Amino acid sequence: MMKQYRVGVIGATGMVGQRFLTILANHPWFTVTALAASGRSAGKTYAEAVGSRWAMQDAMPEKYKDMIVLDAGNDVERIAAEVDFVFCAVNLSKDETKALELKYAKAECPVMSNNSANRFTDDVPMIIPEINADHAAVIEAQRKRLGTKRGFISVKSNCSLQSYVPALYPLDAAFGVKDVLVCTYQAISGAGKTFDRWPEMVDNVNPYIGGEEEKSEKEPLKIWGEVKDGKIVPASRPNFTAQCLRVPVSDGHMAAVFVRFEKKPTKEQILAIWKNFKGEPQELALPMAPAQFINYYEENDMPQTRLCRDLDKGMAIHAGRLREDTQYDYKFVCLSHNTLRGAAGGAVLMAELLCAKGYIDHKE
Ligand code: NAP
Repeated sequence: MMKQYRVGVIGATGMVGQRFLTILANHPWFTVTALAASGRSAGKTYAEAVGSRWAMQDAMPEKYKDMIVLDAGNDVERIAAEVDFVFCAVNLSKDETKALELKYAKAECPVMSNNSANRFTDDVPMIIPEINADHAAVIEAQRKRLGTKRGFISVKSNCSLQSYVPALYPLDAAFGVKDVLVCTYQAISGAGKTFDRWPEMVDNVNPYIGGEEEKSEKEPLKIWGEVKDGKIVPASRPNFTAQCLRVPVSDGHMAAVFVRFEKKPTKEQILAIWKNFKGEPQELALPMAPAQFINYYEENDMPQTRLCRDLDKGMAIHAGRLREDTQYDYKFVCLSHNTLRGAAGGAVLMAELLCAKGYIDHKE
């Protein structure tokens, strides 16, 4: 067996933290050796700290139950000394999150972040591993700025765009994506909630998710961007406009997409590109990588959230209903699991990529 990386989970008691622990319970490279959350949870066993908040379908893995939860803000040095890197998903203000992530990075502990606070820090890569693995090159400049040898911050993008960006990105290279209109239908776990904790969402749709539309329009441009002079320079196109709705679904964000191209492809050309699109995760056979990244369904009533969201470790993208549109060139739907591909799973895949490419090493 290969030497294990020792991993900390900051925000371990939360919705995304629980996902991390579920994924990492049987991970072939990563062993969780430190759990941290707020001062409210610190000093308690993990089982006590989570209490009735366990929201995963699988039971809480036995091995975490008796681990003592550390204080994410006050035990930075201790955690940094004990692990090779941390995953971070905390419910703090933007400034507090930035300060916390910086503390870990400066303590020579790489941070794989699910938080939005550093997504627009220009030397912090925002990585969807199949798409812009090359943005990791900016880490060198970030380390120079921070004065660190090992420590850096890498983030994953918002969960809403993890279905439509993968579908559009490979089409852009071939046909030039010009304008994109997208409506997302987002699950309640995206707000860290279950139906027990958010009964108002049963039989309901809420037309507002604070900040989500801005993220859905702006973040793709950083992903489309390029590394130049130690920074990621965002692209100025394609044009994105988004409406994001909360729907009564536990997990899985659906998106309805309308797209206009520079050069209109045929349906067959689009389907061939989706079928063949793969990235470094597939080439390197990373443990969390889906075998087939984009899965297209010919049936009119597919992809459906409950049938598709968990397939291939919840890491695959599902697309369907590709057809010509009366105003745009094409329209289609796509789906991804928001706390697997869109959050914890995407961060685990990013960490695997950064380990495989040598950006994270085993500490002596
Ligand atoms: P959550 O369920 O509310 O969990 C929040 C976590 O933050 C808990 O572990 C909590 O610990 C911890 N925390 C709160 N105050 C803290 C403090 N002062 N110091 C240290 N830790 C503190 O939230 P979530 O849904 O997991 O989301 C966490 C982050 O991931 C957010 O930034 C969110 O935007 C992002 N995200 C979520 C999703 C999703 O699908 N849910 C997707 C992508 C990104 P206690 O239990 O001790 O309070």
